[in-house]
Amino acid sequence: MPHNIEYMTIARVLPKWIEQLLRELRSIYYSKVGRYCPVCEQSSRKFSRFGIVPRKNAECMWCGALERHRLIWLYFNKMTNLFDGRPKRVLHVAPEGCFERRLKKLIGDGYITADINDSLAKVKMDITDINYPEESFDVIYCSHVLEHVADDRRAMREFYRVLKANGWAILLVPVTAEMTIEDLSISDPAERLRLFGQEDHVRRYGPDYVERLREAGLRVKVTTASDFLSDKEILQMGITGVSGEIYYCTK
Ligand SMILES: [Zn+2]
Repeated sequence: MPHNIEYMTIARVLPKWIEQLLRELRSIYYSKVGRYCPVCEQSSRKFSRFGIVPRKNAECMWCGALERHRLIWLYFNKMTNLFDGRPKRVLHVAPEGCFERRLKKLIGDGYITADINDSLAKVKMDITDINYPEESFDVIYCSHVLEHVADDRRAMREFYRVLKANGWAILLVPVTAEMTIEDLSISDPAERLRLFGQEDHVRRYGPDYVERLREAGLRVKVTTASDFLSDKEILQMGITGVSGEIYYCTK
């Protein structure tokens, strides 16, 4: 029995010790300058691979930010009033881990996270039926959600309804087709993966995504990385084609 107890002790300690060592080795491997993540403000030798079809130079090893997160964080900073210190009501749908803690700290009490799964956010919310009155939010940020939602047009109308008259919304989707393709009768995950790129996507958007937003009443300004970042910033912060375009919407 004593032998057994000793083994159990080692078994408990060793994995932690190994885990710590691996973390250290990983830090050494990725440390040094070269790449810079504007979200966590840390440098690294390179970004990690990420994705169903793995992309090189994608994920920040420190905070998990991907290409699109780094792009939108820079946009928030350089192109919007999000961090001007004035009180705001901000709705963040399906909150990304790399943003949530920082946004909560920067915005304070007005920061509301929402998700269809209530364990993932402060408020349980179906974005096609938002349980808030008209003009509730100064800012709405919803990224890579609408491609999962059957009635995305209704969700867009709901965002329009709850957005304040002088507010703004950033509603991002992956644009991976020449024209939007969708077929709501397809529910087989394998078929969705084949047609729409992911098992839980219900469509692939094309550039006509902007027209859907406009149909919902929103004015849309489309911005790309090169509109507000230098070539050096784009390279250093790992902003690539998959970062996508930014859809800045107002009433
Ligand atoms: Zn980071």
